[in-house]
Amino acid sequence: MYYYSTRNKNEKACFATAALTGLAPDGGLFVPEEIPQYPAQVRSSLGTMDFCDIAFETIKPYVRDEIPDTVLADIVRSAFTFTAPLIPVANRYTLELFHGPTAAFKDFGARFMARSFSYLRRGEDRPLRILVATSGDTGGAVADGFFEVQGISVTVLYPKGRVTPLQERQISGLGKNISALAVEGSFDDCQRMVKAALADDGLKKKMALSSANSINISRLIPQAVYYSSSAGRAFAGRIDPDGEATPRVKGHSVVSAGKSDLPVTLCVPSGNFGNLTAGLYAMKMGAPVKRFIAATNINKTVPDFLESGEYLARRSQATISNAMDVGAPSNYERMAAHFSWEEMRRIILGVSVSDEETRETIARVHKDSGYFIDPHSAVGWKGVDKLHAENKLEDGAVGILCTAHPAKFSEVVRPITGDPPVPPSLALAMKRTVNSKTIPAEVPALIETLYTYN
Ligand SMILES: *Cc1c(COP(=O)(O)O)cnc(C)c1O
Repeated sequence: MYYYSTRNKNEKACFATAALTGLAPDGGLFVPEEIPQYPAQVRSSLGTMDFCDIAFETIKPYVRDEIPDTVLADIVRSAFTFTAPLIPVANRYTLELFHGPTAAFKDFGARFMARSFSYLRRGEDRPLRILVATSGDTGGAVADGFFEVQGISVTVLYPKGRVTPLQERQISGLGKNISALAVEGSFDDCQRMVKAALADDGLKKKMALSSANSINISRLIPQAVYYSSSAGRAFAGRIDPDGEATPRVKGHSVVSAGKSDLPVTLCVPSGNFGNLTAGLYAMKMGAPVKRFIAATNINKTVPDFLESGEYLARRSQATISNAMDVGAPSNYERMAAHFSWEEMRRIILGVSVSDEETRETIARVHKDSGYFIDPHSAVGWKGVDKLHAENKLEDGAVGILCTAHPAKFSEVVRPITGDPPVPPSLALAMKRTVNSKTIPAEVPALIETLYTYN
């Protein structure tokens, strides 16, 4: 399998190059030359197969020849040590993607990326330093994914004072091969500084550098796995009424959403659209997905595009679902490389949700079903309600991807429902001490700091 740049079909790379460099040399995003198909017997067993077996079958065609089967099997077993339960709540399912170490779906991509980087760089004696700019969630997932991985160190840049206390501990509390820089500026400053450092000739001579942002293809592909596994389970009528550690009120039993033998409609709370793009890959591979819903907050560039056919990137606006505050979603370029506007309109329904609607939804879901939901997942929940009200959803099961644990966004959730139960991974992270270095939002300050590490 080779990958080509969304900006030039002749700019090709193997999986290792695409993963380790992140961005194509022409500034485009790497996409696979074709989306492979599941073998018939895998496709018909998605509802009963073990999650790691589905992960192996899903990822294998994308890395064939570059990661041997035995190594890939080990990588997925060590990356996916937690589950993604599909749970009936009220008249729909929630696909809980927050049972990993940092309590957000980004753990799936980051943990696979870290382990595959480690294998792809075997035999290299130069240590690799990964630079990552974060507005909150990505930094924690990448730090945790690469923690104690041999031969690789990570420097996370975050805007000082603009991440939550929990996120700051997830980013800066691990130590060892993970270092954290609190930048006196915005997320955009962090991103600009990372880009400049990656292009600095003096630095490149001194150390091997890479980045780990969400456009990396090795973070995207593993996200297709939970779509195939959940769609397969919904299709087979297999659900988890007692999924582990679900944040619902004790003693409360959820209403069954019923058996499904129809392809499922999956609603994806979206920002940069990496998650939804992974879903499109799973569907093309043969997962029984009928349709996707792209639910955004008021940063509705993609829903507007689906409506009008005109893509208009804009500045992002701040909301309470801030991991989705993206006005120019980078993965749009990938979606457009695989699908025309007409095709996208057939597969994806767009909807956008305001902060007020999000808060109202967090309250209502908790009151009606005893289920705690985080602001991002609440955007998905409300998106489904709105499409139902407009008669845009046909029969069949509907699942909502719950992208973060509600306790991760307790600043928003607490005043509405009281504190949701805190999962052990977050309780542990809260006990860590913040250990970061503050630097001004200037490129030389970053470069100077990086020199002191080696
Ligand atoms: C990153 C993130 C999103 C957005 O995912 P994209 O792949 O960027 O669309 C949604 N919810 C949470 C909690 C996130 O951390």
